[in-house]
Amino acid sequence: MNTRHPFVAAVFLSTLILDVVVEVSASPLGEAGSYCCTQRNHDAWTEIATEVDVVVVGGGVAGLTAINTLLNHNVTDVVLLEAQDRLGGRVRTYRQDGVVVEDGAEWIHGDERNALHRLASSLLELDENPPADDDWDWHWVTEEGQPGRVLDYAKLMKLFEETEQPGLLEPYYDTGYGYYYLDRFPEVFPPSTPHQEGLLHYLHQIVNSDEGTGSWLDMSAEDADQYEHQGEDFQWKNGYDTLITYLKETIPETVVHLSTPVTQVVWDCPEFPSQALVVTQNGKAFRARHILVTVPSAYLQKNHLTMFQPRLPSDFLHNLEGVRLGVANKIQVGWAEPWWGKGLYALDILWSHFNLPPHMCWLYSVVSAFSVHQQKAVVELFVTGNSSLYMEELQEDEVKDHVMHLIRKASGQAVPEPTFFRRTRWSRDPWTLGSYATYITVEGHEAGLRNHSQLAQPIKNSAGHTVLLWAGEHTHNTRYGTVDGAMDTGNAEALRILGLLKPSSP
Ligand SMILES: Cc1cc2nc3c(=O)[nH]c(=O)nc-3n(C[C@H](O)[C@H](O)[C@H](O)COP(=O)(O)OP(=O)(O)OC[C@H]3O[C@@H](n4cnc5c(N)ncnc54)[C@H](O)[C@@H]3O)c2cc1C
Repeated sequence: MNTRHPFVAAVFLSTLILDVVVEVSASPLGEAGSYCCTQRNHDAWTEIATEVDVVVVGGGVAGLTAINTLLNHNVTDVVLLEAQDRLGGRVRTYRQDGVVVEDGAEWIHGDERNALHRLASSLLELDENPPADDDWDWHWVTEEGQPGRVLDYAKLMKLFEETEQPGLLEPYYDTGYGYYYLDRFPEVFPPSTPHQEGLLHYLHQIVNSDEGTGSWLDMSAEDADQYEHQGEDFQWKNGYDTLITYLKETIPETVVHLSTPVTQVVWDCPEFPSQALVVTQNGKAFRARHILVTVPSAYLQKNHLTMFQPRLPSDFLHNLEGVRLGVANKIQVGWAEPWWGKGLYALDILWSHFNLPPHMCWLYSVVSAFSVHQQKAVVELFVTGNSSLYMEELQEDEVKDHVMHLIRKASGQAVPEPTFFRRTRWSRDPWTLGSYATYITVEGHEAGLRNHSQLAQPIKNSAGHTVLLWAGEHTHNTRYGTVDGAMDTGNAEALRILGLLKPSSP
């Protein structure tokens, strides 16, 4: 732990407690695999393999967008291989008895220069009336329900947004994003400020929720600075899966193979120098001129050794080691009627005593509970980092009890038992192994990784044929961690493939 700042110790109080309980893998690249492309199984797969122009691995928004771009340009000899029995990946809408909540993506982040915002609007599926400040029944309280000072909250929000200003983060480029805040915090909140530790904790947690980090010191400040803000947040009128329905509408059924995890990609075989072989868990095989891989970064880190034959080039792996997919989970709690009265409810929680029993310490990472827009009686909470990993291990009833304890104490109300409860467990999802944003770590930055597009460098086989290409949220320089960013990368790589497929291309 870097002890440059006296605040670091306070900020990591809850993290340290949880570190005792949660084991974090030492190497993101996992253990060596045992796959061997023996002549016998290789020949067998090659024989049954279907020949196509392009295989897209992964049916999240990046893969779906790529397939659409290829089809729109009359490249029809394509397949999309998706491990799960559904398309959409980290866009996953859940519906139960009239309640609609998002397990994954929820907002269209921005209405300026944002193609996704334009798309939702053109489909007449954009919720044009996001809640205004006045629509919220807002409470800024300690976990005991004592009111916090509204002026402190306003100053905190101003400080939080400061880093959007150009140039301010530059002096911090060689260090963790959080150091900017650690330097500025005591200037805004001198030691005499009541609840100074709680205010810093709140700031740290909202940065974590925003970035998907477990600690704001993990993320390279330069990477944080590269993220492009595009204005206000919007939502889909009828759930984010409207987008998935739209994207798959134009894709022929024969192109999509669901429940078809790719297990091996043989990308450098002398027998077919202008193709790669893709083998799936359910016994399918394809030979394609180009393979576009859109699986999440954490999945790639864990599985690349068994998935790719031969081993991926060392400079690619070096870059891959420099990123991390953070873990953030959602908890949604609902009632038949809103117990708070009419309108939207929001609790922002200023932790004042860090004295919860150890098994409830994960709650420190929860600093707000707010209404899910359009669901009149559902509130949502975010949990990040190690607290999130710990929460995933708990029984659902335990999570519910802990959350209800917090909501009751902080709201000061006799809140009834909920009729709806849901929590996500994104780190346990074997096809994702994390949540929204892949960020460049401080170590990755030190090792030379400067932007996400370094992870999108296509790979040529020894015959000089560009055989492997990469897309997905993690490969976008300025909109990593977003749906529109992921779509952008799918489109860009499909266009690159179109160029490669032209007859004169190698
Ligand atoms: C909790 C949460 C909240 C979020 N909130 C927002 C938000 O509000 N706004 C926003 O813009 N973004 C948000 N995001 C981020 C957004 O969802 C992602 O950036 C985006 O959906 C990523 O798309 P992708 O295609 O790159 O990856 P994914 O959606 O992860 O798609 C990858 C696909 O690859 C498949 N796959 C994996 N391994 C294999 C294999 N071996 N063979 C075949 N297929 C495989 C997976 O099943 C998956 O379908 C959120 C994400 C989460 C988890």
